[in-house]
Amino acid sequence: MKTDPQTVVVGAGIVGICTALYLQEKGRQVTLIDPMPPGEGTSSGNAGIISVGSVHPEAMPGIWKEIPHMLMQRMAPIALRPAYAPRLLPWFARFLASSSVAKADQSSAAISALSSRALDFLQPLVNKAGAQALLRQEGTLYINETPSQFAAAKLNCSYYQRRNVDYQLVDGTELTDLEPNLRSGLAGAVLVPAGAQTLSPLALSRSLFKLFQQQGGEFITAEVTGFKLEGKRVTALYTDHEMSFNQVPSNQVPSNQVLCREVFITAGAYSKTLAKQLGSTVPLDTERGYSLDLPMPGIELKRPLLFAGRAFAATSMMEGLRLAGTVEFAGLKAAPNYQRAHNLAQQAAYLFPRLNAAEGENEGKPWMGFRPSVPDTVPVISASPHFDNAFFGFGHGHLGLTQGAVTGAMLSALAVGEDCPLAISPFRVDRAW
Ligand SMILES: Cc1cc2nc3c(=O)[nH]c(=O)nc-3n(C[C@H](O)[C@H](O)[C@H](O)COP(=O)(O)OP(=O)(O)OC[C@H]3O[C@@H](n4cnc5c(N)ncnc54)[C@H](O)[C@@H]3O)c2cc1C
Repeated sequence: MKTDPQTVVVGAGIVGICTALYLQEKGRQVTLIDPMPPGEGTSSGNAGIISVGSVHPEAMPGIWKEIPHMLMQRMAPIALRPAYAPRLLPWFARFLASSSVAKADQSSAAISALSSRALDFLQPLVNKAGAQALLRQEGTLYINETPSQFAAAKLNCSYYQRRNVDYQLVDGTELTDLEPNLRSGLAGAVLVPAGAQTLSPLALSRSLFKLFQQQGGEFITAEVTGFKLEGKRVTALYTDHEMSFNQVPSNQVPSNQVLCREVFITAGAYSKTLAKQLGSTVPLDTERGYSLDLPMPGIELKRPLLFAGRAFAATSMMEGLRLAGTVEFAGLKAAPNYQRAHNLAQQAAYLFPRLNAAEGENEGKPWMGFRPSVPDTVPVISASPHFDNAFFGFGHGHLGLTQGAVTGAMLSALAVGEDCPLAISPFRVDRAW
């Protein structure tokens, strides 16, 4: 067992890595722990969008009218595996309850508070890591293919107005000037100029992790299975296997325990059971999403494009053209249905007439990730109400890449008792769900 109590961050996705870096800034000696290599979970295959202007919760007013249509389309942007339906019900009931006009506006305020500060907290880490070339800020385009979609999008711009987010309406002809590779004849789009992207989410996580190690951070390859609790403190973490000598100081006996001074749960969609063991019940589920990288697309987009009716995005990256999105409710255990990723290529062929067909060497590798989603789209960024040295940072759903760094900054401030950069109350783990 390690004899020197550590500041331990459980989960090395983008949220955990950024949290670890901000804790180092506060002078903490930090250990990250994850069974997978850093950044290789859901944080790797996402659409790469840093949605600085994000203001819309997933549970928008009137969503209940759209869901049946979305579920029934041929290449359905939303899918529900029937066997999972009973388990999803409580989450879904809360999701619908979050879609009232008042609740959606409340969620929007919290989402915007976080997302609008995304680059303020990510950019300094990226600069320090020397990874500036991985970020680009050319805006984000939300594309509407039909006049009725565009009319609905214009109405939803009231959220941008209320949150003071700059946006521009772009009609169909201007759209092809902005993005010449798009097919002509689409109805229009909303451009959010503040939107940014990474050219590779995985390369970004790896650069940040390298910085963490250069600053003396330690990484343990293991899964956390439980906690040793003494009074109001977590004193150790149990892991799924004994750690080898290269993971613990050589004068100590290897063991399946890590002593902890404080613990941060940033395990993405897997955080629910860990939080439960610390006395906090959170309605966390997963909206599984798919992506497909086309390595030789033959086209380059200037900025990320999101297709409202299809629930996926197209982003040019180091890996090629990444098509990423859709939602599948099937929990953490069911096998992926990679046909959903391949379907994205068919849709992209329609949207980008000059796209190299996805076949042969360009067929691309399908990927699936687990968005950690809470019903109101507002992540948990919180001290534990039950343990003085436990903190939570999970539930970022569709926006974890965007909100990871600001989450880390907030958690590190909470841990050392400094003023938080944002008001913490909307993100509390013990809020009324
Ligand atoms: C298709 C798709 C597109 C997306 N596009 C975007 C986008 O454009 N912009 C954006 O902002 N967001 C996007 N997202 C969302 C974003 O990817 C996630 O919100 C984010 O990656 C979550 O990060 P995380 O660090 O919380 O979780 P993860 O990246 O999943 O990391 C959690 C880590 O915890 C580890 N872990 C789990 N259990 C344990 C345990 N018991 N002990 C130790 N470690 C454990 C896991 O192995 C994993 O490495 C997208 C998601 C998907 C699926």
